[in-house]
Amino acid sequence: MNFYDSEKMSDLLTNHGYERTEVQDDADLIIINTCHIREKASEKLFSDLGRIKKLKDKKDIKLAVTGCVAQAEGDQIKSRAPYVDFITGPQSYHRIPETLRELSLGKKVSPILEFHPNEKFDNLEYGKEYKGPTSFVTIQEGCDKFCTFCVVPYTRGAEFSRSISEIKDEIYSLTDQGVCEVTLLGQNVNSWHGLDTLGNERGLAHLISEISSIEKIKRIRYTTSHPLDMDEELIHAHKNISKLMPYLHLPVQSGSDKILNAMNRRHTAKEYIQIIDKIRKINPNIALSGDFIVGFPGENDKDFEDTIDLIENVQFAQSYSFKYSIRPGTPASILDTQVPESTKKERLSKLQKVLFSQQHKFNLKFIGNEVNVLIEKTGGRENQIMGRSEYMQSVYINDNVGSIGDIKKIKVTHAGQNSLKSL
Ligand code: SAH
Ligand code: SF4
Repeated sequence: MNFYDSEKMSDLLTNHGYERTEVQDDADLIIINTCHIREKASEKLFSDLGRIKKLKDKKDIKLAVTGCVAQAEGDQIKSRAPYVDFITGPQSYHRIPETLRELSLGKKVSPILEFHPNEKFDNLEYGKEYKGPTSFVTIQEGCDKFCTFCVVPYTRGAEFSRSISEIKDEIYSLTDQGVCEVTLLGQNVNSWHGLDTLGNERGLAHLISEISSIEKIKRIRYTTSHPLDMDEELIHAHKNISKLMPYLHLPVQSGSDKILNAMNRRHTAKEYIQIIDKIRKINPNIALSGDFIVGFPGENDKDFEDTIDLIENVQFAQSYSFKYSIRPGTPASILDTQVPESTKKERLSKLQKVLFSQQHKFNLKFIGNEVNVLIEKTGGRENQIMGRSEYMQSVYINDNVGSIGDIKKIKVTHAGQNSLKSL
């Protein structure tokens, strides 16, 4: 979502006369868009600020901090880095052009940390430049679930869904910029709800079906889903809507019911597996991906083994796994059953060994088979291009096979842990 937000800030500023540069020393304005989800991401901000301060001492540049660290630690940023010109939370970045105008008039600006997602989306602007074949589109923001480890409900605010017409308008403008694949985004994307043309309340499956009627859109994905919001209609969409890709990112975090309960995930390991079984019955080819946290307070060896058992049971095609990170202000941060860092490290490495081998096993099944690849960009090597299969695998191909934006049938000859190749 931060990637999408940064793109939107760039679109806004481009429409206000700014031009994007990849060269930091050329910039008149530097915006650091931050993530607060884990401590490591937050700490990165202060090292980046120190580096940019040196540049700012030499040259008249404006420096801004946006995103969730700005939201959660605006005051600390002001005191630790008073040279930052302005601070804007994730729901207020539509006000950046106005803030820049005020700064240019010599006015002092206070951190903008309001929660008005409605106002934000109403004031965003569409870009005009070629974007490439794929794009994110935020359809939902914020979260009401309050998992005990997570900062999102505090930094992004309450759940908010954009309307079908606004989302479709944005997608039409993206297709004009070359986009043929959209990934619908939300912290709880499958909690999206909105009114159809008859005024009836509908869920994500309906929105996906509406988007699939846009001719230039060839592929649809969505992320991140919560197991509790995986309704029947959405599960069936994975069979009924051909443009919906056979890939589902459905975080489970832990395989231990004790830990799931302490995390306030509101489902058991068995219930998660039942959802997966249902999805696989509907579409046996679906590739599954998940998020995992090891070392949540109170997690013992048995709880960890339960997570490994769940992973063995489900067989994931892709995954994201993290050591539990204490986040200020969350209920889990004050539990006195914190797990030592060394145990977290050990568990993460064991967990990843299992997950990575499943990923490799999943990829190996494709050798000798054909996959549909949407070509996204040039590859790392000469004469190489890179695209994605329907299952989200990166596929490296010779550049005489097609051009960026094409969808081509490719015969897989090599499969690594992280990618496929056709040589
Ligand atoms: N809404 C999604 C997740 C959004 S946050 C869901 O409910 O699944 C993305 C991922 O970051 C989470 O799935 C979780 O695995 C990880 N994460 C969030 N807070 C964390 C923390 N305090 N420590 C470690 N990982 C965390
Ligand atoms: Fe965070 Fe996701 Fe839980 Fe919401 S549902 S609190 S975003 S982990």
